[in-house]
Amino acid sequence: MLALRCLKCGHEHPPKKGLYVCEKCGGKIEVVYDYGGISKKVTRKSLEKRDGGVWKYQELLPIAERKNIVSLGEGGTPVIRAENIGKEIGLKTLYLKDETRNPTSSFKDRMMSVGVSKAVEFGAKVVVTASSGNAAVALAAYAAKAGLKCYAFVPAKAPESKVAQISMHGAKVVKVLGKEKGDPTYELMLAGWKKFGWSPLPSAGAFNPYHWEGAKTISYEVCEQLKWKVPDWVVITVGAGTLLSGCAKGYFEFEQMGLVEKVPKIVAVQATGCAPIAKAVRENIPVEKIETWPNPQTIAGGLVDPFPWDADTALNAIRKSGGTAIAVTDDEILEAEKKLARREGVFAEPSGAAGLAGLEKLVAEGIIDKSDIVVLQVTGGGLKDTKTALKISDKPIVISPDVKSIERLL
Ligand SMILES: *Cc1c(COP(=O)(O)O)cnc(C)c1O
Repeated sequence: MLALRCLKCGHEHPPKKGLYVCEKCGGKIEVVYDYGGISKKVTRKSLEKRDGGVWKYQELLPIAERKNIVSLGEGGTPVIRAENIGKEIGLKTLYLKDETRNPTSSFKDRMMSVGVSKAVEFGAKVVVTASSGNAAVALAAYAAKAGLKCYAFVPAKAPESKVAQISMHGAKVVKVLGKEKGDPTYELMLAGWKKFGWSPLPSAGAFNPYHWEGAKTISYEVCEQLKWKVPDWVVITVGAGTLLSGCAKGYFEFEQMGLVEKVPKIVAVQATGCAPIAKAVRENIPVEKIETWPNPQTIAGGLVDPFPWDADTALNAIRKSGGTAIAVTDDEILEAEKKLARREGVFAEPSGAAGLAGLEKLVAEGIIDKSDIVVLQVTGGGLKDTKTALKISDKPIVISPDVKSIERLL
């Protein structure tokens, strides 16, 4: 790590203990590395020799000493060719980057492994998050591993299975009732940080420049797994825009280091019930004009970020890459969830499957060409929301324990 650069005022801070936002203007900061120096050591050849996972790319992550790394074996997830769905929607080459395979079953593990490692490096004792579920789940697990106390402010409507995951790891789950305006989970997290000195690890990068660095390792892996041939499109489900911002940073860094020749066009998929980023892209709204989404409503709880904290970096990445954005309805998301499970054997939660719904629309609209190479990120696992899965799948049949009953079924 070379410096921490404010994305708002441009001020550069040397790496400094306990720094989370710009000291001058309070803006969001980005970690900058000595890419020239690192690319002498991090080459295609040297990477191929290393074991997989997030920490394979340590030179490009903001942790000074290896002894501070808190790991549960995150990353190194497979890229799977999705021939069945590809055929069905008319795409020749479709890959799934299956992030459900992470330790707590979402990509957020990559971020929290980096974030908690940095908190340990800072000597933190208490971490706090504001999250609709998965970020808190991941933080709780990594905090448990590191022996840190963890507070999680979650929306009152967070699914039971996610709450179970968070509490099981010993974190204090605090359900926060909704408010007319703003995001009260964030307000409380910020209060915990400012008032009690807890280390903030929200799912967004606007209040912590370290953990979203973890997301970019998805892109590093995709480059390697596709034998350094960058796909034409990468499709990413979006809430706050943190995942997309991180993934884009990964591609741009590898391009800058000369490891790949181009950056893919990046697509943001949001739910129509909470789509501030998709709206901004489609209607060419500048980032300062983005407003809090009124009454967010969607089955995809992981995509509910009424105020998209990382819209600045997300919009920039989508535009710079020549990508686009699209919003999909809950019905479309549930169809996509079924399709992934039934055609490809991948069980995603609604937020993890929404990308497929967006991809189908973009192929139908002719924006993505049938011959384009596409990577679809499946961001979170279906066991996190079995209530929804049970609603959309066939009911089991009850029979008496004899062979005749089976015959009757046939
Ligand atoms: C958090 C999350 C997202 C959205 O990520 P953002 O960084 O908020 O845009 C997508 N899918 C799943 C499963 C998530 O948990």
